[in-house]
Amino acid sequence: MDRREFLKLGAMLSAAFGILNLPKPVIAALKKLDPKTIPKLIYLQGQSCSGCSVSLLQSGSPSPLTLITNYSQLAFHSDLSAVSGKKALDLIEKYISGKAGDYFLAVEGAIPEKMPEACIIGDKAFGQYIEAAAATMSGAIAVGTCASDGGIPAAEGNLTGAVSLREYYKKRSINKLVINLRGCSVHPDWVWQTIINMVKVGMPTLTDQGSPALFYSRKIHEQCPRYHDFQQEIFACKLGEAGCLFKLGCVGPDTAADCPNRWWNLSQNWCVAANAPCIGCAWPNFARKKDFPFYRISEQKNRPINRS
Ligand code: SF4
Ligand code: SF4
Repeated sequence: MDRREFLKLGAMLSAAFGILNLPKPVIAALKKLDPKTIPKLIYLQGQSCSGCSVSLLQSGSPSPLTLITNYSQLAFHSDLSAVSGKKALDLIEKYISGKAGDYFLAVEGAIPEKMPEACIIGDKAFGQYIEAAAATMSGAIAVGTCASDGGIPAAEGNLTGAVSLREYYKKRSINKLVINLRGCSVHPDWVWQTIINMVKVGMPTLTDQGSPALFYSRKIHEQCPRYHDFQQEIFACKLGEAGCLFKLGCVGPDTAADCPNRWWNLSQNWCVAANAPCIGCAWPNFARKKDFPFYRISEQKNRPINRS
């Protein structure tokens, strides 16, 4: 994908999410584009709880109202679109068959590779749509940890054979652009600021995990205000105590994200500031093992934490 195509992607995604509060140069760039030629966004949900869609609606700027009233370029979203039933299925088919022009794919949730019937849209498996889209789409964003890495649907046991979007394509030797936007749920800024980055400068610099370096290049641990406590070996032994939360299962040393600086919910708070350990929701290994601290910390206080 060349720079022009990325600009197109950024413009389309911005329009799709109703991003109106953009910097002036971005608005100027958008105005130069012919609306008739701006490709659409198809937002599909697989093995997902819809939490990432809910999180996107919690953004501060643009406001949720802007998001839900200016999505004319959002060709389809199962939660937000007005169309439903056969009309919705026809619409998705029209795009994925390539008959409705350029579009980009956003995927929320994992793909049940071994049990396709676990996730059906209409009468077709979710994976069939994803595979067919690879032939016609211009690129894709994986929204959230489930789409980026498998997440909770791919946890140990994994009866459905849940895989990430990249893995699903890799197994089929499909080489298409997929940008991973991790988080369970994803931070709205990580999604729309990625889009703005694409509008302004083109392809964002990606980490070796395929995520924008702007948000995912540094570990939570090295940005954490309790890092000094960690160095001094001042550890909290139960929730609510002062000190580093490492012994309570904090996965901040493994997780790359900018939560300590960005904060959440319109900058109200973030996990460690709320005395809760980082559970590594933006870590590729999030919740993959049965003894992941997210599940078992209360039962395994004296066991070393398996971070593999
Ligand atoms: S609370 Fe977690 S992220 Fe913060 S210093 Fe301790 S281990 Fe690191
Ligand atoms: S601090 Fe950790 S668990 Fe909390 S939102 Fe950030 S990455 Fe997820």
